[in-house]
Amino acid sequence: MRAPMGDIAHLAHVELLTPELDKSVWFFTQILGLTETGREGDSVYLRTFDDYERTSLILTGHETSGLRRMALRASSQEALEARVKAVQESGRPGSWTDGVAGTGPTYLTSDPDGHDIALYYETEWYVAPDELKPGLKNQPQAKPNRGIGVRRLDHVNYLAHDVVQNTTFMEEVLGARPTEQIQLDTGEISGRWTTFTHKSYDVVYSADWTGSSGRLHHIAFAPDSRDDILRCADLCVDNGVFIETGPHKHAIQQTFFLYVYEPGGNRIELCNPLTRLVLAPDWPVVTWTEAERAKGQAWGLKTIESFHTHGTPPLD
Ligand code: FE
Repeated sequence: MRAPMGDIAHLAHVELLTPELDKSVWFFTQILGLTETGREGDSVYLRTFDDYERTSLILTGHETSGLRRMALRASSQEALEARVKAVQESGRPGSWTDGVAGTGPTYLTSDPDGHDIALYYETEWYVAPDELKPGLKNQPQAKPNRGIGVRRLDHVNYLAHDVVQNTTFMEEVLGARPTEQIQLDTGEISGRWTTFTHKSYDVVYSADWTGSSGRLHHIAFAPDSRDDILRCADLCVDNGVFIETGPHKHAIQQTFFLYVYEPGGNRIELCNPLTRLVLAPDWPVVTWTEAERAKGQAWGLKTIESFHTHGTPPLD
């Protein structure tokens, strides 16, 4: 049975691992325009300009790449406790820890594939220092005049051994709703998009072609416009950042996209923020067939082969 929607308020922040910490910090601050807010050990704390919380992204130096953790903010302390109880009843392991990145008590668990998930409610609202004060009181920070200035962390796309098992956990335990999926001719669901909000997706699972577990396909950031994404492509070309595919428009979810590899090797998507809203409480999951996928993306671009071969951390 599905958990009630709304106990999880939104995707909050992620911790990304990188073997090239300095270069990754350069990419996220100078190309994407995030703002560094602090350092602790091997970790650098960064934020998008429109995040009301202190932290959007933690970059941690590590021997390899990948996603260490995705953090979801609950909508209240009661909602947090309800979801923790559901996690415990589901049999997934978990434990309470001190929060990181300005967050309060945090329950650490994982999805069936082993991706670590942090759940919390208490958080520290960001207060900009004088040099970053916004002109408008309804914006947490002035938009940086550097890089393209992404507004928010938009979604996480995991690779997983079993897409249905993991999206079922998101739906039945955390209260996500599926909006679109890919079904192969064999009947296997090879990709499924889920949301906690009226955004059409927040957390996505794609089948890991290697059959391994716990890996990342990409994380995505949303700037204000398609023009910002075109500007990002130019900045990447000028600065030697690898562009994997795009700019173009996805058929699934209709997202305008650009995929690049940040210097640590993780795939980063720039996605347009005009993502459709799903307001219908009885939205039927849209299923795409193999034949439909073979037609390519919305404007005909074929899905690039490396989309099915590159994930992080890389495997030997
Ligand atoms: Fe994406």
